[in-house]
Amino acid sequence: MAAATGDDRTSLGTGRALMRAAVFLDRDGTLIEERGYLDRLDLLTLFPWTPDALRLLNRAGFATVVVTNQSAIGRGIVDEPFLAAVHDALDARLALGNAKIDRYYFCPHHPEAILEAYRHSCRCRKPGPGMIEQACRDMNIDPQRSVMVGDRWLDVATGQAAGTRTVLVRTGHGAHEEAHAPEDGRADAILNNLMEAVGWILRTCSRW
Ligand SMILES: [Mg+2]
Ligand SMILES: [Zn+2]
Repeated sequence: MAAATGDDRTSLGTGRALMRAAVFLDRDGTLIEERGYLDRLDLLTLFPWTPDALRLLNRAGFATVVVTNQSAIGRGIVDEPFLAAVHDALDARLALGNAKIDRYYFCPHHPEAILEAYRHSCRCRKPGPGMIEQACRDMNIDPQRSVMVGDRWLDVATGQAAGTRTVLVRTGHGAHEEAHAPEDGRADAILNNLMEAVGWILRTCSRW
């Protein structure tokens, strides 16, 4: 056993070392097929690689956190119990592949929501960083060691606002988004789908 030298490194950065790395995941077009407003459970379709991709992240020790804009709630198209049912159904399909989402965050708001309770400008609606910031507080996540994956520049901007690395995937709106990049649109990687994104994350990002 090493003698005490007075060089107590454990006191430095201990808090940070205990923080987790996460992969923040957009839902529609990234984990599941883009359906516009998903308002029926039978419209829920996972990409074929989604369970495998998530299981790899689970096993590598990354927290898996969905961050999804759900203004359909504020617009009165779906309600919160229905959204919970969609996420329960997604969890059930993932469980068949021994994969899991650790936590879901959603923003039900919209500045022009029909339902008054949801009508305001908020920090949680992407590209605002509010959902990622809340998850970091709730789950002791270090954004700097984390990655945001999504199919829109809005997802990339969200990750950048929260201080994560970013991957744009070409599923959902992604191929169109890639072809119509805004001037400041820059992701750390642009890849075909979530499985490729996970390969990049496992090669590039240490969870510690
Ligand atoms: Mg999307
Ligand atoms: Zn919100």
